[in-house]
Amino acid sequence: MKDYYQVLGLERNATDADLKKAYRQLALKYHPDRNPGDKTAEEKFKEINEAYACLSDPQKRSNYDNFGTADGAGAGFGYEGFGGFSTNFGDIFGDVFGDIFGEFTGRMRMRPTKGQDLRYDLDISLYEAVFGVDKEINIPRWENCHDCEGTGSKPGKGPIACPICKGTGQTRIQQGFFTISKTCGKCGGQGKIITDPCVKCKGQGKVRKERTVSLKIPAGVDTGIRLKVSGEGEAGFYGGPNGDLYVVINVTPHPFFKRKGNDLLCEVPISFMQASLGAEIEIPTIEGAATVKIPAGTPSGRVFHLKGKGVPKLGGYGKGDQFITVFVDVPKKLTPRQKELLKEFAELSGEDTSKNFMDKVKDFFNQKEQAK
Ligand SMILES: [Zn+2]
Ligand SMILES: [Zn+2]
Repeated sequence: MKDYYQVLGLERNATDADLKKAYRQLALKYHPDRNPGDKTAEEKFKEINEAYACLSDPQKRSNYDNFGTADGAGAGFGYEGFGGFSTNFGDIFGDVFGDIFGEFTGRMRMRPTKGQDLRYDLDISLYEAVFGVDKEINIPRWENCHDCEGTGSKPGKGPIACPICKGTGQTRIQQGFFTISKTCGKCGGQGKIITDPCVKCKGQGKVRKERTVSLKIPAGVDTGIRLKVSGEGEAGFYGGPNGDLYVVINVTPHPFFKRKGNDLLCEVPISFMQASLGAEIEIPTIEGAATVKIPAGTPSGRVFHLKGKGVPKLGGYGKGDQFITVFVDVPKKLTPRQKELLKEFAELSGEDTSKNFMDKVKDFFNQKEQAK
């Protein structure tokens, strides 16, 4: 793993302005047009772009600083990172360098290029996360136009070679001592001109389509897990492969269960009587009802443990557990008769109900004073 900061000759605390400046200088120095046939420069140029793509994106930079990768910790489920140079490098160069980079990107477009990766955020319930689920999602994406097979021209009326650049996609202009190559303005660097655009895609060669993708969500997924669906991203360019689709899972909160790793936690109220005398209570698990034995004299806050009633381990064997915290439910409203019985109970227990808690605290300190 390369150190992106080192690649750009920057300190870790470099500002955005430092970053742009360093990138601009290095990218111009190692640009393939200035170093024709130089493999080392080409490698270096790729490295610089990769480093800039990562560090110029605040999210990726933070991931890189924290985890040493642009993609974050990512929970590692078949995840290979959002690929491609999605950053628009042209932007930061503005007018001065636009020509040079216009030409560069123009030429890039002519090569078979992998399509953009897509991200889809999918909400699922805790139940679905525990048991796994099959889902169908609709992904809007660009696909190659079937009518023209992606050429953008009406069938049988293929594009013609650009008369301005004679099909090279480049024009050359003399500027002082230099000859500067420029993307042909007429054909946009394609070297070809569409004379009869395809009606369906209006000459773009691509159409926006909604596609249904079937997903098998495995049991045990959690929020933040990314599932990769190969080849379901945007269509590739010039015969390049499609991008990939990344489905980012979000498990919605459950009204009763909290999840902690592979364990499920819940709180269950019991009555004072159940806590005192013991009881068998019915509690919900994610698989259905279960019975828990509450022994006599159970204090509020005691935790009971149901083995194997948690969430399955993703891609492995075994399951987490369920932990049930019981709390004694104190009745908010009492009838006079109930109050009477409780007082009687307290007196039988040797409690002096005529004094409140603060009186008892005072008594305690008085006793201490007297003991001195
Ligand atoms: Zn041209
Ligand atoms: Zn078309």
